[in-house]
Amino acid sequence: MDFRLSEEQEKFRQEVRDFLEDELRQGLWEPSCDAWIMGHDPEFTKRVAKKGWIGLTWPKEYGGQGRSFVDRLILTEEMLRYGAPAACHWFADRQIGGAIVHYGTEEQKKELLPMILRGEAYVGLGMSEPDAGSDLASLKTRAVEDGDYYVIDGQKTWTSGGSHMNWISLVARTDPDAPKHRGISEFFFETSLPGVTAVPIVDITGGVHFNEVFFENVRIPKKCLIGEKNRGFYQVLNQLDYERSGMERLMANYPLFEALIQYTKETKRNGKPLSEEPVIRAKLAQLQIGLEIGRLHMYRVATVMDGGRAPNWESSMSKAYGTAFEQHLASTAIEILGLYGQLSPQSKWVPVRGMAYHSYLSSKGYSLQAGTSEILKNILALRKLELPTQ
Ligand SMILES: Cc1cc2nc3c(=O)[nH]c(=O)nc-3n(C[C@H](O)[C@H](O)[C@H](O)COP(=O)(O)OP(=O)(O)OC[C@H]3O[C@@H](n4cnc5c(N)ncnc54)[C@H](O)[C@@H]3O)c2cc1C
Repeated sequence: MDFRLSEEQEKFRQEVRDFLEDELRQGLWEPSCDAWIMGHDPEFTKRVAKKGWIGLTWPKEYGGQGRSFVDRLILTEEMLRYGAPAACHWFADRQIGGAIVHYGTEEQKKELLPMILRGEAYVGLGMSEPDAGSDLASLKTRAVEDGDYYVIDGQKTWTSGGSHMNWISLVARTDPDAPKHRGISEFFFETSLPGVTAVPIVDITGGVHFNEVFFENVRIPKKCLIGEKNRGFYQVLNQLDYERSGMERLMANYPLFEALIQYTKETKRNGKPLSEEPVIRAKLAQLQIGLEIGRLHMYRVATVMDGGRAPNWESSMSKAYGTAFEQHLASTAIEILGLYGQLSPQSKWVPVRGMAYHSYLSSKGYSLQAGTSEILKNILALRKLELPTQ
């Protein structure tokens, strides 16, 4: 086993770093936590698209670069390390573009993929509903055939980036009489269509990131169906493996970790820098151990994907691990910063630009989004340990 990346991959990492350093030098944005899901910056996305860094792993015949998932992991690792505002293209690049490559018709590939590659599709994921989260197959949103159209009625919730999206990937019930997993289909359409309404939800930090999305008599052409009718649940299960496969649930708070290290070097308590306190040094070193283990999980997942298999228990394991690491990082930050750590970014006394406040509060949701830790452990128990279903 060789843990080293190739010379070419190290060069690619440096190229990404140089690009991001240059962006920072120009003052185009400031690093922030969770910028992959909250940092909506269409201009940044266009610049990333120009570099050819959207659709890195897609086949060349569809405008992708045909590169490996390890290469993509290097790219996303650096985006997250720098806290770059990549939310506009993240979902389309990570899972929806790949789903179109896999399940789409030739017409859909030709029409939709170039738009994603240009950084013009800001995609929301319309899966969860008020009564269908972990048990997604219980969803109630309906898609009823009417001539050349499907008519969509229902409600989604927790749709990340719902206020910014211009396209949505939606799962809806197309056969109410079939067993619940077998009557669901996947659609991809523009949210500017009449009858689509996104209503922002204020989150625990006081910010707005996810939305409720309502569909009232929304008529979408039949060509918006992705893949096979009534097989949407299984298609989405596969996409969820990709959703859980990335670095975002390990590295999305890296800007906080970096700022925390800097803070301990610059801040004195009892006449000496915090970084000289054995307990604080041990806490930071423990975080570094956690981070390095998490990176190995992530690279393992990418290697599985490069082997041609969708990662399943591997991405469940790495996502469950990554969120636990991030929750530990947020708690450690609050311990080190003391009461100041709880101040919101608006306070003039706030340390580390309010990132501890953001991460501590947001981290409660990390082990819910993209599959709760309980569900991920159930997948591991079933698929890896081969324990019986409950
Ligand atoms: C920050 C954030 C962003 C999100 N973004 C999106 C998005 O863009 N699009 C989207 O569609 N959804 C999104 N979600 C929703 C997310 O996918 C759901 O929250 C998640 O699937 C859990 O569903 P739920 O909230 O309905 O909880 P429930 O499924 O009701 O679960 C409640 C609790 O019961 C536990 N539980 C449920 N079933 C089992 C079981 N079988 N065994 C053991 N324990 C179980 C869960 O682990 C959890 O602790 C987001 C959520 C968050 C927090």
